[in-house]
Parts: sequence; structure tokens; C-alpha cells
Amino acid sequence: MGSESDIERILYTESDISKRVSDLAAEISADLSSSGGSTVFVGVATGAFLLIADLVRRISAPITIDFIRVESYGSGTESCGEPRISCDLKLDVTGKHVVLVEDIVDTGRTLSSLISYLEKKGATSVSVCSLLDKPSRRKVEVKLVGGGKLYIGFECPDYFVVGYGMDYAELYRNLPYVGILKPEIYTK
Ligand code: 5GP
Ligand code: MG
Ligand code: MG
Repeated sequence: MGSESDIERILYTESDISKRVSDLAAEISADLSSSGGSTVFVGVATGAFLLIADLVRRISAPITIDFIRVESYGSGTESCGEPRISCDLKLDVTGKHVVLVEDIVDTGRTLSSLISYLEKKGATSVSVCSLLDKPSRRKVEVKLVGGGKLYIGFECPDYFVVGYGMDYAELYRNLPYVGILKPEIYTK
């Protein structure tokens, strides 16, 4: 387990992702320059590590970067229960604009709880940038605060996907593309 032969089909190639991330960075940059004040990019560990790295290299405005870790999944393919923050921010987000960077929005539970957490911490606004969105799986509406915006890379069909940061049992994160994992890998 963990090799490329476990991928059924590639959904987004390295070059699809690179182009889309450039567009997102341009869109976010334009919004940053009109929002004023300082912005913190918060990557949701571990899944967003490649997206945040690729995104911030294309943003020239002065920004700060931090990570937050949330546990909701275990090693399965379905989220279970209320997400729990297992590694908190280092930076103070009071009075800051926050751009939360995620790999994928599925039920919406992780993001909703992170957005309320950041709001309680005093963030002026919370925007979300996620590589993928699976709207067909939404259970909880993702409500942005303080005029924050939602930036989505691709709307994704309802398959369990891995790569470009996303894992199954902590494997496949290093694949440079996003692909559908063969169901026999996780139903074995
Ligand atoms: P939610 O709280 O929206 O249900 O789940 C969000 C988290 O579940 C994502 O940040 C991601 O870590 C994980 N997740 C949801 N769908 C997938 C998927 O298709 N593949 C992988 N690898 N992780 C997923
Ligand atoms: Mg995630
Ligand atoms: Mg995971």
C-alpha cells in the first residue's frame, strides 16, 4: 500500500493543479490588497501542506503563515464526530484577516468548527481556500465570517481521493497529482 499502482484514475494532474493554484493566488492577492490590515494564512495540517506552500509562493503581499491541526477522521474514509484541535496556532489572530487553507471540504464539519474557533479568537474575517470541494457530501453549511470569501480549486465528484497532501492511512500525500484511490485499498 502507498504506491501509484493503488490509484484508479487521476482527476487533477500536477499541471492542472499548478494552473488553478496560480489563478487562486491571483484572486486572493487582489482581495488582500483591498482588504487592508494584515493577513494570516493558516494551513490545516497535514493535508494542506502542499497547497499552502504553492499558494503563498505566488503571493507577494506581506503575510504571516501558521498551521493548525484538527483530528476528525482517524485512518478511515469517513469523518467521525466533532473535530478536535490537537495542535493549536502559534500566532495571535486577534484583529487579523485569516485565510484558512484546506485540502478538501467534505461534510463541512472541520471547516465550520475551525471558523467558529478563529472567530472566538478574535479574527476580523475568515476566508477559506480549499483545493477541492465535494458539495454533494455537505452536512453542515460553511458560514464565512467578517466578509470572508470562499476560494475553491475544483469541484470534486464523490470519490475518495488522495495525493497533493491528501492521505489514506497517512500514505499518498507525496503524490504530485490528485487521484481516486482504488476502493479495494480501503475496503480490504
Ligand atoms: P469534513 O469535516 O469536511 O467532513 O472533512 C474534511 C477533512 O476530511 C478534509 O480536510 C480531509 O482531511 C478529509 N477528507 C474528506 N474527503 C476526503 C477524501 O476524499 N480524501 C481524503 N484523503 N481525505 C478526505
Ligand atoms: Mg484537511
Ligand atoms: Mg486524512
